[in-house]
Amino acid sequence: MNKYQNLLDRQKAYFNTNITKSFEWRIEQLDKLSNLLKENLDEFYATVSKDFKTAISEQVFEVNAPLGIIEMVKGQLKNWMEPTIAPLPKFLAEAGHTAFVQRDPFGSTLIIGPFNGPILLLLYPAVTALSAGNTVVLKTSVDTPATSALLEKLIPQYFQEEAVAVVSGGVEEVTALLELPFDFIFFTGSARVGKIILRAAAENLTPVILELGGHNPAIVDETADIADAAKKIVWGATSWSGQFCASPGYAYVHESVVEQFVEEAKKAVVELYGNDPKNNPEYSSIINAAHVKRLAGLIDQTKVVAGGESDESARFVAPTILYPITWEDKIMEEEIFGPILPILTFSDLDVAIAKIQKAAKPLATYVFSTNKENTEKLLSTLSFGGGAVNMTNVQLFVASFPFGGVGGSGMGSYVGKYGYDSLTHAKPVLNSPAGAVIDHLYPPYTMEKLQALNGWFDF
Ligand code: NAD
Repeated sequence: MNKYQNLLDRQKAYFNTNITKSFEWRIEQLDKLSNLLKENLDEFYATVSKDFKTAISEQVFEVNAPLGIIEMVKGQLKNWMEPTIAPLPKFLAEAGHTAFVQRDPFGSTLIIGPFNGPILLLLYPAVTALSAGNTVVLKTSVDTPATSALLEKLIPQYFQEEAVAVVSGGVEEVTALLELPFDFIFFTGSARVGKIILRAAAENLTPVILELGGHNPAIVDETADIADAAKKIVWGATSWSGQFCASPGYAYVHESVVEQFVEEAKKAVVELYGNDPKNNPEYSSIINAAHVKRLAGLIDQTKVVAGGESDESARFVAPTILYPITWEDKIMEEEIFGPILPILTFSDLDVAIAKIQKAAKPLATYVFSTNKENTEKLLSTLSFGGGAVNMTNVQLFVASFPFGGVGGSGMGSYVGKYGYDSLTHAKPVLNSPAGAVIDHLYPPYTMEKLQALNGWFDF
């Protein structure tokens, strides 16, 4: 028997008692999560940096963002839970019918998290699932053992397992979990594993959200503020050592300003991290030696204009800028997920757009321009998860935004009301007065009755 069968059975039985549907239950779970974080704040801060060295700003965000979103959701949940009155065709309304759409939770939700954001990217989805009235099984990442152990210790202290459980482990554990008919799967991770999740979900027809990565362009046209663009793109590509799903994966710069951009980008590296990033506490390390090796293999030393060094034992890859890069270079094949910024050039914006469109749809796109026409063209033509104009990464911190990819970067979105809608089923219900007869539904079907069908579209 599957080792998680019993856990899922208990969560489903608990869900079927209807207890999770009430507003009070949902608020209680959100409060428990909030208390769990607040009462163990110092341990959380300390633990995040045990798994891999991260800048203090990132540690604070990891823990404080879930606290912030809990308060925001609690303030709005009552409204979200109200059934929506639906308009009806005139003849039904006049005959006393009413209609509403209520949002039903799916049931037991499996949440699988990545190594980056080991707290945030489990708890943000958990807040979403719980606010929508679902129970939760959290699967932590094997690559962050300290954080996983802390969650494994604390979750049972605050939650009964029927409501929120935590499971740790790697491929074997996820494979076993995926065999079971969860009611929803929320996966954050790579596109490679996303495909495995989607295939497994298909077996049980389980709905999914897939939050994947992507090779994200930062396009800089000839009208951009080049110093500003270079600093923001370098910051975006190197903060958390580029292990951010929305990090710019490459700068795509108009040829007339590229030399200036390269100089400003080199300057920005030093301004942000000094001359010794390896020993700078504000510069994050790479998750493990295998990823350092992978990243080092992507650095074409003949094209290094800044950085280029790596050290597996220190889990270090320097903030690195590569120029000139073309679409044929190995580094352009897939998401980098490290602190390396390749710089490509274009001379014609339409050609640049066509090149970007040939690749998988990215999770993020950044447009650096002061030209309205160029900006609008890029925003309306390119398909991407989310993005920003004259900024990088910051769209992720705006809690009123939906967050999610498209095509190769994922499916479905969450955060706030968007998440509430994604983690609930919209269930329409028609209330007909007892004894009301819609005569044209019943045979024999005369021409007159068939014409009455037009009334269904008359609101
Ligand atoms: P990953 O895909 O390797 O792992 C994600 C999860 O899947 C982990 O819990 C892991 O244990 C599990 N897993 C790994 N291999 C598996 C397999 N063969 N079968 C079943 N489960 C398996 O991702 P990662 O390296 O932990 O994280 C980095 C990736 O996540 C990047 O691609 C990044 O862009 C993406 N990401 C996306 C978002 C987003 O919100 N869109 C956020 C953070 C990270």
